Amino acid sequence: MNTAYLSIGTNMGDREDYLTQAVHALRTTAGIESVETSSIYETAPVGVTDQADFLNMVVRLSTTLTPFELLASCQWIESELGRVRTIRWGPRTADLDILLYNNDNIESETLSVPHPRMKERAFVLIPLTELAPTCVDPITGRQFQEELAMQEAGVVLWKTTEGN
Ligand code: ATP
Ligand code: MG
Ligand code: MG
Repeated sequence: MNTAYLSIGTNMGDREDYLTQAVHALRTTAGIESVETSSIYETAPVGVTDQADFLNMVVRLSTTLTPFELLASCQWIESELGRVRTIRWGPRTADLDILLYNNDNIESETLSVPHPRMKERAFVLIPLTELAPTCVDPITGRQFQEELAMQEAGVVLWKTTEGN
């Protein structure tokens, strides 16, 4: 069995209902054995700021799906929930992103895991560390909680100590 974390975001229509529907769809997907949910957080949009506020949450899955099968399931659920891609980072009914898949590091044209922008996003790190307080970034070996603390303090890791 594999452990994966997904981020779910929405900023259109009945946002809570979209989150509920997305979680229900994951629970009824073959190959997804359990779905644990974080609290729901509200965030002002980042990047493209001229759009409605988001609701965000993180879910932890136990799954027999491969990372690419899981991506396909996420995209199928997004389209079932009526997501239409217009502008990148624009309004959406549901966005399901794979944050982590075990400790795998995947770099392909269609899938990057860990999600490359997750560490810059408090709306991802806060629900993630709520669900998994000691969860570690498989690339840096640091706890995501530390990343979040540094981000809140406006401190950025500039160079790691060499040799010890
Ligand atoms: P962001 O990735 O910055 O959160 P987004 O979620 O709005 O932006 P999408 O339009 O949902 O971007 O996805 C664009 C593409 O990202 C997808 O077609 C998918 O192939 C690719 N992708 C790469 N890595 C991941 C990942 N870890 N989870 C989901 N999609 C990914
Ligand atoms: Mg996204
Ligand atoms: Mg996405």
